[in-house]
Amino acid sequence: MPDQIAKRQGLELSIKNLLTEVGEDPNREGLVRTPHRVAAALEFFTSGYHQDVQAVLNGAIFNERYNEMVIVKDIDFYSMCEHHMLPFFGRAHIAYIPKGKLVGLSKLPRIVEVFSRRLQVQERLTQQIADTLYNALNPEGVGVVIEARHMCMMMRGVEKQNSSATTSAMLGVFRDDVRTRQEFLTLIGRDLSTG
Ligand SMILES: [Zn+2]
Repeated sequence: MPDQIAKRQGLELSIKNLLTEVGEDPNREGLVRTPHRVAAALEFFTSGYHQDVQAVLNGAIFNERYNEMVIVKDIDFYSMCEHHMLPFFGRAHIAYIPKGKLVGLSKLPRIVEVFSRRLQVQERLTQQIADTLYNALNPEGVGVVIEARHMCMMMRGVEKQNSSATTSAMLGVFRDDVRTRQEFLTLIGRDLSTG
């Protein structure tokens, strides 16, 4: 625990210095508790570093002969881009076709959380979710699509305010079979082939 306390104090001091550097007075009334609050928030936003995705899946994988596509769509997530440490957020859609093994449906949003509560890029987040499921279930295939809006684009006026980015990771039959991929994209209301 002393380690954690030292870490928290270091984080709070960094935030206090940051406030000074941007031209603020960290001792004025409204800001006195800000380093504490920001440090606590940052610890939560990066809590995925301390979570083991294997532990999340342990005990949640079971044998079943179901072999149709399983889809969980519209999983809300919040992450932070590693380039600007600003939020990006949106929805993840996950599908897989089992080959003898299923995972509890509630675990899919948990996988998204483990990887989104870190500094990320959307592409890697998408791939990590797909790889985790693929390795854990050895299924026929996995498909992951993420649609997100990035505050670093919106606030800095780099792109249109309402633009969003879409990334996908397709493994196994989702990569090899156009019809499987199309079925997934149609079921989540996206058809990437026709834009
Ligand atoms: Zn960014």
